[in-house]
Amino acid sequence: IPAHLNATAAAHADEPALVDRHSGRRWTYAEFDRDTDAVAIGLLERGIKKGDRVGIWAQNVAEWALIQYATAKIGAILVNVNPAYRSHELEYVAKQSGMSMLVSQITAPPHSDFHAIATEVAAKVPGLELVFLDTLPSDLLGDAVIGERESFAHLIGSGRGLLDDESAKYAVRLQKLMDELAMDDPINIQYTSGTTGFPKGVTLSHHNILNNGFFIGELLSYSPKDSVVLPVPYYHCFGMVIGNLAALSHGAAIILPSPGFDPVASLAAVAEEKATSLYGVPTMFIAELEHPDFSSYDLSSLRTGVMAGSPCPVEIMKRVINDMNMEEVAICYGMTETSPVSMMTRVDDSLEARTQTVGRVMPHLEIKIADPVTGQAVPRGQKGELCTRGYAVMLGYWEDPEKTAETIDTSRWIHTGDLGIMDEDGYVDISGRIKDMVIRGGENVYPREVEEFLYHHPAIKDVQVVGVADEKYGEELMAWVILKGGFETLTAAEVKEFCSGKLAHFKIPRYVEVRESFPMTVSGKIRKVELREEGEAIIQ
Ligand code: ATP
Ligand code: MG
Repeated sequence: IPAHLNATAAAHADEPALVDRHSGRRWTYAEFDRDTDAVAIGLLERGIKKGDRVGIWAQNVAEWALIQYATAKIGAILVNVNPAYRSHELEYVAKQSGMSMLVSQITAPPHSDFHAIATEVAAKVPGLELVFLDTLPSDLLGDAVIGERESFAHLIGSGRGLLDDESAKYAVRLQKLMDELAMDDPINIQYTSGTTGFPKGVTLSHHNILNNGFFIGELLSYSPKDSVVLPVPYYHCFGMVIGNLAALSHGAAIILPSPGFDPVASLAAVAEEKATSLYGVPTMFIAELEHPDFSSYDLSSLRTGVMAGSPCPVEIMKRVINDMNMEEVAICYGMTETSPVSMMTRVDDSLEARTQTVGRVMPHLEIKIADPVTGQAVPRGQKGELCTRGYAVMLGYWEDPEKTAETIDTSRWIHTGDLGIMDEDGYVDISGRIKDMVIRGGENVYPREVEEFLYHHPAIKDVQVVGVADEKYGEELMAWVILKGGFETLTAAEVKEFCSGKLAHFKIPRYVEVRESFPMTVSGKIRKVELREEGEAIIQ
């Protein structure tokens, strides 16, 4: 990772590398390289060594990217901490990863208590040093007193001072550390979204994530002409790999529209920076497209982008291509455990391929659709569990050899838990998670199929289908719907009428519940587990 930054910084010294619109700060490649050196030196001076775990608990602020590269330069292991975590989860990941330092935001609206929580957790985790991000705009500083704690301004300031005074000495020291890095060293621990259970510490190497980022950038044809608006969180691979590593390994710029997702800030960032690429999970694109001011932003500079993380409704994809000008938008499929992207659509794929599949396997990786029980590949056109093999497969779950062995088999295939079908040309259609599949009266129902159908209902803006326990059928289908403006109710009888004659009877939701929004993980995934629990509570 450091070598790639050295190379791009040398080739594109005066080109923009990073723009943080919330604070109005900008870095060229030369400035970014130098500031990451300063942070790296600041960390070394505070005793951080190769292999030590350094956590960052923050939203999308420029410091996140500085710390990502600074830790990579000295071989420290960056631990991404989800900004939605509260004290219980923070304590869990700090202890589980054996964290030596945590860099924390002071407040992160709507939470004003990051400083208090970090302080409380540090008291319970032996040896955990805190550094507070006091370099942010005043609305992210709150009124907490940093007191005796280290501040980021001090850490980077001391690093810059040492570089100014003795640049030759520190250049030699950093170069020596870089020479000692090995591509298979662990460099990053990311706790998975927790969509289906308790987070696991996915441990990734330079080789894993840099290669993945590089190939994503290749397939998006990134060059210094590109600038990428990144509303997706840094704590997740989507931000730090598909975002930072893909763009910065190709001389493109990263534009942070806002610390937390804000549809207007994203649209404004595209229009004002004349950005060429915009990222999002489907719900983010929906929020942008549905925003009342959508049409007042000039999005004509866009050409590409990435949509990933969960299935995208066909209607939304069409609008992203037509109304947002993102003709070359790519769908990426992957999971944290595979760095993350294992499949992706190509720029010249047909609209059909980009609305109905997640594309084909990434270069230098293998994909297999396997019988979930035997692990044997199934014939093309048949549904099975998607498995991936190759350079992107994680080193393992941090200090959890048992879970690692449950996920990566002895032939190094990683079992994704996702169901898919591969066609004759290698395109894969993802049909849901094995765990989301509903078994109603012995019939397997894939919620995704029912959701796709219900999106065509004139009153439905967004929909999630889950299985709820049922005495007679084992499980019954429940549709949770968000209604379009102008609609107030939608009954099960109306939905039934809409579906009947078009969907098999066992796929028609028995229950329909209206709500304002869906419970989400910070990476933008809908927590179906919660919808199922709430649904079961309602029908009891
Ligand atoms: P946990 O493993 O803790 O339950 P998670 O699996 O949601 O959380 P991630 O690694 O962030 O955590 O997400 C990977 C999953 O996201 C994939 O296994 C898949 O189910 C889903 N996914 C990712 N991209 C796509 C896509 N393009 N289409 C459909 N599903 C996708
Ligand atoms: Mg997972």
